[in-house]
Amino acid sequence: MTSHPPIAFAGGPLDLAENQRTAEDLAKFAKAGNAQALIMHHGKFLTKDGTLALVTPMSMVGKHLYDPAPLFLGLDGNVPVFAFSLAEEHEAQDIMEGAHLEVLRALALTLPPKDLALAGRAKSLFDWHRAHKFCAMCGNQTFVASGGVTRKCPSCDTDHFPRVNPVVIMLVTHGDKCLLGRGPEWPEGAFSCLAGFVSSGETPEEACIREVFEEVGVTVENPIYQFSQPWPYPGQLMMGLFCEAKTTKITLDTKEVAEAHWYDKETVRGVFNGTDESFYCPPPFTIAHWLIQHWLDQ
Ligand SMILES: [Zn+2]
Repeated sequence: MTSHPPIAFAGGPLDLAENQRTAEDLAKFAKAGNAQALIMHHGKFLTKDGTLALVTPMSMVGKHLYDPAPLFLGLDGNVPVFAFSLAEEHEAQDIMEGAHLEVLRALALTLPPKDLALAGRAKSLFDWHRAHKFCAMCGNQTFVASGGVTRKCPSCDTDHFPRVNPVVIMLVTHGDKCLLGRGPEWPEGAFSCLAGFVSSGETPEEACIREVFEEVGVTVENPIYQFSQPWPYPGQLMMGLFCEAKTTKITLDTKEVAEAHWYDKETVRGVFNGTDESFYCPPPFTIAHWLIQHWLDQ
């Protein structure tokens, strides 16, 4: 492709500053006059006037914070950027007049791309910390290190790092048709690309072939990687592929896919243009939207 699509949650501005995360580094960054912090509460983000509401890290002193506190996201140019998750909703609400808390899915349609990338990184890291308070090796309580990109076990000395889960998401095509499915929990009429987790010992291409066959009974070939998306629910890496169907008969695994259909290109184009109501297209903050758009553009 000639240009990269505007993938939500990607393209963040940060230098992750992996080599500047000693206690001294972090104290220096937190006290820097230009340092900024975004604020969360129970997975929601504090926003104002359509952007993240940013405060100074030092203004968080004395607030009730969730572990880890604070989380150093990285450097935006020379600006240290932190994230705090406040335990008390009123403390978040009172930080800035006119600001309010909003869930990330709603913000995905409205936040500037840079803010969305910061929010996605913060959410993924906080979700990982919440799920990894105890050592997977010995069960002892772990503690935060390196500004939130490591947890250490004081008992067995194991370092734990934020987990990213690889997922393949693929547009299956056959001539001028593509195969779209609806997950069991999705609303009626909502269709998208098939997707599944990469298993141990698999390449993304192998996972693509396996997942399509498992979910809809269709044999595919020529899986070709297109582009990817960090997906902070809680920490997936969505790897987008195209693949070609060798067979077209659909046999559903209804635990994974409630229904699936072949749609011709004109129908899909109509749905994306708003002139056809055959199904609801995936929203533009999803990689599925851009995989389908990329196919329509070919
Ligand atoms: Zn341990």
